Amino acid sequence: MNLTELGWDSAWDELLPAVSEVEYGLGRVSAEHKHLYRVFTEQGETLAQVSGRYRYDAQSRSEFPVIGDWVLITSSSDDDRAIIRGILPRRNKFSRRAAGENEEEQVLVAKIDAVFVVSSLNRDFNLRRMERYLVLAWESGGNPVIVLNKADLCEDVYSKVAEISSIAPGVPVHAISCETGQGVDQLTPYFGTGKTVALLGSSGVGKSTQLNCLLGEAVKRTGTVRSQDGRGRHTTTHRQMHLLPQGGLVIDTPGLRELGLWGSDEGISSTFDDIDWYSVRCRFADCRHQGEPGCAVKEALDSGELDWARYRSYLKLQKEMAYISRRENLFEALEEKAKWKQIHKEIKRIKKR
Ligand code: GDP
Ligand code: ZN
Repeated sequence: MNLTELGWDSAWDELLPAVSEVEYGLGRVSAEHKHLYRVFTEQGETLAQVSGRYRYDAQSRSEFPVIGDWVLITSSSDDDRAIIRGILPRRNKFSRRAAGENEEEQVLVAKIDAVFVVSSLNRDFNLRRMERYLVLAWESGGNPVIVLNKADLCEDVYSKVAEISSIAPGVPVHAISCETGQGVDQLTPYFGTGKTVALLGSSGVGKSTQLNCLLGEAVKRTGTVRSQDGRGRHTTTHRQMHLLPQGGLVIDTPGLRELGLWGSDEGISSTFDDIDWYSVRCRFADCRHQGEPGCAVKEALDSGELDWARYRSYLKLQKEMAYISRRENLFEALEEKAKWKQIHKEIKRIKKR
């Protein structure tokens, strides 16, 4: 493996001058166990743990490495585990709010290029649920791609594709079957060398099957990876980053219930940009679309141009989001400060070693 295969690119180089003077190895976290990590490095996959110093310095859960993070490591002399000394700042991520008074952010996966929003084409097909997943996907900062699996179980693939396209303008839609292999090669372009793809979708839609299919033979090895601590086989963790034999990386992410919205408006407005399109055409700039004269949203709803169910879904998600941001505003200013403090601290910490 070289770093490019693991997703390193020139944007990361810019973050590196601060550390290049010192002798660290670079690695990318591929799995998280309780206090142990697995890390892809140029030498292969290794077990690693954070240094005592790191643990001491870390102020919140989100400062610890997660799957997808780039980390600075050194090898330790007394056993085969590498030591994680620091992480590079995250470029994008999936988060969930961890329970607690401050609604601490818990980052689950870092740095994704594309997010496959996976649904199945049989009875689980649900536009409203897809909208929620799309909001999440946009929030993560990766590019959403809709993957409709189980095409073999569906009689009218075309109309389903049309339906989903109508709620996700501009998002690529692919109908595939992991069972028959139909359409699977449409996904190849997303898996270039060093590209990281996250799979997002409810359980049962076929994410594991797809992963197996992508990994081919390699998946069988995953379960039996020899750990370097000599304890034999690893138990595969729930979430894990896989390196594909043909290049590219895939992460299976937890589903909706576990992820939850994080409260950035961006996800909502990207998902529902058709509704934005109407609302800027309302006569009043502050139109609330509740019966004001000249309301373009109401007109679109009346004419059927805009689907009521979709509009209700939008209102519901917006309400949720407003609730989240109200709570968030309280912490926002503080958080922003802390974030920059953290970035400076990270760079200092890295320089120090
Ligand atoms: P996950 O929970 O999203 O990881 O879903 P799984 O990969 O475990 O798949 C759930 C079930 O759907 C399994 O029984 C699979 O064999 C089945 N399945 C997955 N993909 C397809 C497909 O394309 N066609 C059909 N007919 N079944 C599929
Ligand atoms: Zn209006």
